[in-house]
Amino acid sequence: MMKQYLEIKEKHKDSILFFRLGDFYEMFFDDAITASKELEIALTGRDCGQKERAPMCGVPFHSADTYISKLIEKGYKVAICEQVEDPSKSVGLVKRDVVRVITPGTVIDPNMLDEKENNYLCCIYLDQMGYGLAYVDVSTGDFFTTEVEPENSNIIDSLFDELGKIMPKEIICNDFIYSNESVSLKLKQKFECMMNPYHEWVFDFDFAEESIKKHFSVISLDGLGLRDKRYSIIASGTLIEYLRETQKISFYHINKIIQYSSHNYMVLDVNTRRNLELTETIRGKTKKGSLLWVLDNTSTAMGGRLLKKWIEEPLLDKKSIEYRLNIVEYLVDNLMLINDLKTLLKEVYDIERLMSKVIYGTCNARDMIALKDSIEVFPQIKAFLSATNSKELLDISYELDGLEDIHDLIDKSIVDDPPFSVREGGIIKKEYNNEIKSLREASVQGKEWLSQLEEQERIKTGIKNLKIGFNKVFGYFIEVSKGNIKYVPDYFIRKQTLANSERYITPELKEMESKILGAEDKMIALEYQIFVSIRDKIASEVKRIQEASKIIAKIDALNSLALTALNNNYIRPNINTEGLINIKDGKHPVVEKVLEEGLFVPNDTYLNNTDSRVLIITGPNMAGKSTYMRQVALIVLMMQIGSFVPAEEADICIVDRIFTRIGASDDLSQGQSTFMVEMSEVANILNNATKDSLLILDEIGRGTSTYDGLSIAWAVIEHISNPKEIGAKTLFATHYHELTELENKINGIINYKILVQEKGEDIIFLRKIKKGGADRSYGIEVAKLAGVRTDVINRAYEILQDLEKRDESKSEVAISVSKKDTSKNSNIDNSLQLDLFNIKRSKLIDKIKSLEVEKLTPIDAINILYKIREESKEI
Ligand code: ATP
Repeated sequence: MMKQYLEIKEKHKDSILFFRLGDFYEMFFDDAITASKELEIALTGRDCGQKERAPMCGVPFHSADTYISKLIEKGYKVAICEQVEDPSKSVGLVKRDVVRVITPGTVIDPNMLDEKENNYLCCIYLDQMGYGLAYVDVSTGDFFTTEVEPENSNIIDSLFDELGKIMPKEIICNDFIYSNESVSLKLKQKFECMMNPYHEWVFDFDFAEESIKKHFSVISLDGLGLRDKRYSIIASGTLIEYLRETQKISFYHINKIIQYSSHNYMVLDVNTRRNLELTETIRGKTKKGSLLWVLDNTSTAMGGRLLKKWIEEPLLDKKSIEYRLNIVEYLVDNLMLINDLKTLLKEVYDIERLMSKVIYGTCNARDMIALKDSIEVFPQIKAFLSATNSKELLDISYELDGLEDIHDLIDKSIVDDPPFSVREGGIIKKEYNNEIKSLREASVQGKEWLSQLEEQERIKTGIKNLKIGFNKVFGYFIEVSKGNIKYVPDYFIRKQTLANSERYITPELKEMESKILGAEDKMIALEYQIFVSIRDKIASEVKRIQEASKIIAKIDALNSLALTALNNNYIRPNINTEGLINIKDGKHPVVEKVLEEGLFVPNDTYLNNTDSRVLIITGPNMAGKSTYMRQVALIVLMMQIGSFVPAEEADICIVDRIFTRIGASDDLSQGQSTFMVEMSEVANILNNATKDSLLILDEIGRGTSTYDGLSIAWAVIEHISNPKEIGAKTLFATHYHELTELENKINGIINYKILVQEKGEDIIFLRKIKKGGADRSYGIEVAKLAGVRTDVINRAYEILQDLEKRDESKSEVAISVSKKDTSKNSNIDNSLQLDLFNIKRSKLIDKIKSLEVEKLTPIDAINILYKIREESKEI
């Protein structure tokens, strides 16, 4: 047996091998040491013919799922090795083989999965020219692929943006990635998932093409939308091969590849998703407190997953957005319909995941009943939708397959409350099959016969408490209490002695027993056989069932958006094509929910492509600048997923991307300091933003010295606001009040401030935004509010006063520009002019000093001289 074990283990070196021995899965050697530690189970040993005993541990077969999920959660792979022949029929050692390898990306057991979240296994193929990405959720059958567009300048950025959306649980990739340490490390850290290099030879175009053709039973990939998609083909084919290797059995619920272009959706980089807290909060990584938390009123797991996907993939196409908005609007106007749909949708189980169990053959009769109960409401949903006068809902109703035949099949065949096990009978209705009917009748008759026999023997023997019993070891027996043994007749054959009784059999009883038990065995076997045929029949309809569940998911997601809109008084936004963002009384959807009702102060926003392109927002700490900017980004994003928005009026244009640069964070594990991270994010924005993008920049340049920071912030705004460079609509919050100067210098820049009211030594936050620049940051007052010790606060006021008295000089300014904020009669203009003058002058001097005059040609010299003259004019 150990030889057999070692042979199998050799093929599954990277997995923990669960080796089936009777009612246990046993683990040996290193696997046992690891598993016993991770699962906190006893480590024992087993003689294996060598000097030392083999370390060993085991888990019971019936509770293996819990242990497997623990190991998967901890990032291990588990190979399940079963007996693959009937032990009663085999001669010698029972054949064993690995029947499935479970990895974080191939889990299908719903107990191990988050209900409203997809579980993606992702394959990346990367080379110098591009990448292909394919990902699959084995538990639902969803399969997607995309590849970098040839014109995309930054392959790695684009790859990370896409992965940020998918958040895979497991990645397989080619050597090119794995051998590039910085990329593979970044992947591991950013996505905290299992990463496996995979056989390099599989990442081959011809091989991949064949794998895909074979799996989807097609002779050309054109019909799958993969024509000329070399990268997608390699990634998808490899993914299929990996599934074949790990799943062992057919996974034909994965029957469709969706090839998409990232151009169809708003690209959101990882930072932006994080900063806007779309699906989880930054701090606790919880759903509560995220946009998804506010919007999710779905009733089904499938609807929940789809809504999450919509939030992660805002649309760019006006028609598609309006399609969703039309439905949401219709539902909002028909509250009864929302409630009726919700009541019905609550009855729908996770059909997608049920179907994976059906395909994998792991479903039981209870799953079938869950499927039946789910399908039961489809005709009613169809009827509700077809009674509307919304064109979109009528179309959906028409598309929705009522699956009546599947419902009827289960209804006719499976009992209403079946047992958990499919191997112990009691699952098939007797009306469904004549043989089951007669076997069940035989069994009932047999039991009636037994009670008659019991009665007869009591009369014959005079033993009143004689009774017929049954146990698995001895079968049927006659039990007589100790006191009555003397009345036992000769034809009773003693079988077992207990403390207070004796058990007997008779030839007649044994004859009947074999009839009853024979019928029961036969019935159990037949019931299982019928169950499997029903399961296979349903499996063969997987495509229809999946399509219907996708439609149910869509109805649920839209109903959820409508319900959220109603509950929170959201309005339908208008979509314009003039580049206008005009919001009246907008609110932050999450902060509004968290605050007590009525406490959130709504604010307006006006951005356009001409004279109001960049808003410079100043105001004290804690005034609400970040909240305001995020609220604008979230309102735009909500519109692009087809949701109503928290505002009184909203006229919004479609943006191609939203970029955010918010807060300070370092990435020490990546060797990046706080400032370096900040600047990488700025670089990304400057390289990728377009005039159609929306930029949320919350403090730029705060991570370095004041002069450097201010200069960078200044230059960034100049660049972004220049239509010849980017010209993106931007909200820029800052404590560098000097930047408000830009309003007078550059067309399209407007200053806004968030109002506060001074009351003695305290300040009251009004949360209202108004045109104009702020002159103070009230940093010390906010520090006081935060509970900083009074002696420190008082000392800060002293230092402040002292600083205010001093003349402007470089060293002083380095303490903080905000000192100017606190000066009641600040001469910002003059000091800023002086600062910039100094910077430009020293730069020019450096430039002249570095000239290698002796190497210049006359024409170069004239050009340089000309440039120097022009630059000196600016000083
Ligand atoms: P800092 O400059 O210190 O980063 P900030 O101006 O960005 O501060 P925010 O973080 O946006 O301030 O807001 C601080 C708190 O004020 C929020 O957590 C929220 O509770 C509250 N707040 C913000 N905006 C509003 C609003 N419009 N109505 C009510 N409360 C608000």
